[in-house]
Amino acid sequence: MNFRFPVIVIDEDFRSENISGSGIRDLAQAISSHGFEVVGYTSYVDLSAFAQQASRASCFILSIDDEEFGSGSAAEVDKALAELRNFVKEVRKRNADIPIFLYGETRTTRHVPNDILRELHGFIHMFEDTPEFVAKHIIREAKKYLDALAPPFFNALMDYASDGSYSWHCPGHSGGVAFLKSPVGQMFHQFFGENMLRADVCNAVDELGQLLDHTGPVAESEANAARIFNCDHLFFVTNGTSTSNKMVWHSVVAPGDIVVVDRNCHKSILHSIIMTGAIPVFLMPTRNHYGIIGPIPKSEFSPAAIAKKIEANPFARNAKNKKPRILTITQSTYDGILYNVEEIKQELGSTIDTLHFDEAWLPHASFHDFYHNMHAIGKDRPRSEDTVVFATQSTHKLLAGLSQASQILVQNAQNRSLDTHRFNESYLMHSSTSPQYAIIASCDVAAAMMEPPGGTALVEESLMEAIDFRRAMRKVDAEFGDDDWWFKVWGPDELPDEGLGTRDNWTLHAKDSWHGFGAIESGFNILDPIKATIITPGLNLHGQFDEQGIPAAIVSKYLAEHGIIIEKTGLYSFFIMFTIGITKGRWNSMVTELQQFKDDYDQNLPMWRVMPEFAKKQPRYEKVGLRDLCQQIHNMYRKSDVAKVTTEMYLSTIETAMTPADAWAKMAHREIERVSIDEIEGRVTAMLVTPYPPGIPLMVPGERFNKTIINYLQFTRAFNSAFPGFETDVHGLVREAVDGEVKYFIDVVKE
Ligand SMILES: *Cc1c(COP(=O)(O)O)cnc(C)c1O
Repeated sequence: MNFRFPVIVIDEDFRSENISGSGIRDLAQAISSHGFEVVGYTSYVDLSAFAQQASRASCFILSIDDEEFGSGSAAEVDKALAELRNFVKEVRKRNADIPIFLYGETRTTRHVPNDILRELHGFIHMFEDTPEFVAKHIIREAKKYLDALAPPFFNALMDYASDGSYSWHCPGHSGGVAFLKSPVGQMFHQFFGENMLRADVCNAVDELGQLLDHTGPVAESEANAARIFNCDHLFFVTNGTSTSNKMVWHSVVAPGDIVVVDRNCHKSILHSIIMTGAIPVFLMPTRNHYGIIGPIPKSEFSPAAIAKKIEANPFARNAKNKKPRILTITQSTYDGILYNVEEIKQELGSTIDTLHFDEAWLPHASFHDFYHNMHAIGKDRPRSEDTVVFATQSTHKLLAGLSQASQILVQNAQNRSLDTHRFNESYLMHSSTSPQYAIIASCDVAAAMMEPPGGTALVEESLMEAIDFRRAMRKVDAEFGDDDWWFKVWGPDELPDEGLGTRDNWTLHAKDSWHGFGAIESGFNILDPIKATIITPGLNLHGQFDEQGIPAAIVSKYLAEHGIIIEKTGLYSFFIMFTIGITKGRWNSMVTELQQFKDDYDQNLPMWRVMPEFAKKQPRYEKVGLRDLCQQIHNMYRKSDVAKVTTEMYLSTIETAMTPADAWAKMAHREIERVSIDEIEGRVTAMLVTPYPPGIPLMVPGERFNKTIINYLQFTRAFNSAFPGFETDVHGLVREAVDGEVKYFIDVVKE
């Protein structure tokens, strides 16, 4: 493989017609003659800006000579040294290993302070050795650096793919050759490129090791990632955290076991409950009237509170073993609420066998002190006495993993360790026997990228960008003043003027009014700044509607039409994330697009002008003004008091009629029927019922419909018929046209 990692030379004389210029050009020439690209910069001003290049270079060569040191006066020398020191510091903040060389004619190491010298790989004294000799030395160091970059599996995969040997094993496209035999196949091949296809191999290739048995280079990479993430074991998973969750669950839960689950959990956890035949008792998170899900109050974690829930549940109450097998919580909710894990561990003691944190949105937390104790497993974190801790993380959501890249982290207890051999039976139960090797490689690389100091710098950058975005939004707000409207970013009232601020700035306190979660325990939770929930005008934190409003659904459709895709949209809120892929360009475009929206809204421009694609699909809105449309939808929300309806439905008492697995069995055996939503009160759902927004499951199979939930479903029907194109999707609902009218049904258990 030929990679492009140029040698970067920074020398004021690089293009000068003098002795020093010709010296450095001779060296560059000698390096190039060995096949290494050289890029020369002549500006010594703002040296630290070049530090950004550390991720694409193979080494740096910096001149320190008279030109760089100006007149040579003490002040100018100090200034040049300060530049140099800053550069070295900036490079080393991200990259501990890239070689840095200094060279000069008149200056020597004597002129350079120790704190700089110790970060260097050499000092080249021009004209003492031949350019050829110096070039070889530099190339050796650059090569050594590049050779050590790739982690074990990725390295082996590159070797294999570039080896060019013929293979008889699957996949059938034989390193991409099959695609070349047809025009559309050619197109596919050219689009994805040779390497992607050559690296798409099957698990018959011995030299790459086996994901399913965790052997060879795969195992080395998993061990490497375990070291980087500070856990006892780490397993790569190529089918997403949906699968990681099922693997963890199936390894410890059997039919009839009691499990304790965050009611605000991902559907894969509910699928796990169904698949294992467990009896769930739920921990209830708080909610505010924006529809933002808050923390589960700390009191819910006390063993006494859990025991009480078990006694209140008709199935759990009669279980043979009352000790819960597992407790799963969503660590980082969609809106970025985190729990203090050490407090949870202390509260629970040894009352639960296995603690599982669904950290789909939190793989970055290990790498920055800001998150200390606010994630499941990491450096200097005490072991529980008897409880094994699992964390499942979607590498692809916030780190640099391909879609479906995920990992399971394990921390052993003092008195109990994971038996990896047994655990793997569950791993196998949920794995494809043909894992995608590009995904394994991306798990490997994503972990290697996070190795400190680089990983810490990346997380720090995301945090800073996220906070700068909040500051930028506040500045716009301040400029519009009190008489005009602007979008708010949900979060603490006080933003630090500069930098990240302290942890306390982001902590949820009982007395704070910004979060709207009531009198929760101070310090138990923080808000992860990298998730920014943007609030649109029209609804306040108490669930009261203003005269005028801008439903988030319209803003997010508007943004989509302008090339900005939103992850999740609520009633009057939507959220964006600052992943390690974020750039200043991206979030600044968000600010400007929102300004554009405001402008179009204030002028009430017609939909055909501001959202032409949408208006074409939904001609009924073509001539409606943007502000008028917002107002129409707002009025309907307001009339139905939908914020309260939604909050109440999630907090309403839902009766359990059968276990989720029993309800599922009814479905498998077709002992269910499709009933209109007007006639389902008291009936038992056979389906998961999940409204989007917010995408949090509302009902689990086996639960009875209550009046509050039916109200909401009826509202959804009315809303969808009034505003086509803005439909609220409720997964589990069946929409069917009966005699020209759209009717809503749900599959319930036969009585
Ligand atoms: C996305 C998500 C998952 C599932 O992760 P995938 O990698 O998409 O399978 C699990 N839990 C939570 C909380 C999630 O947000």
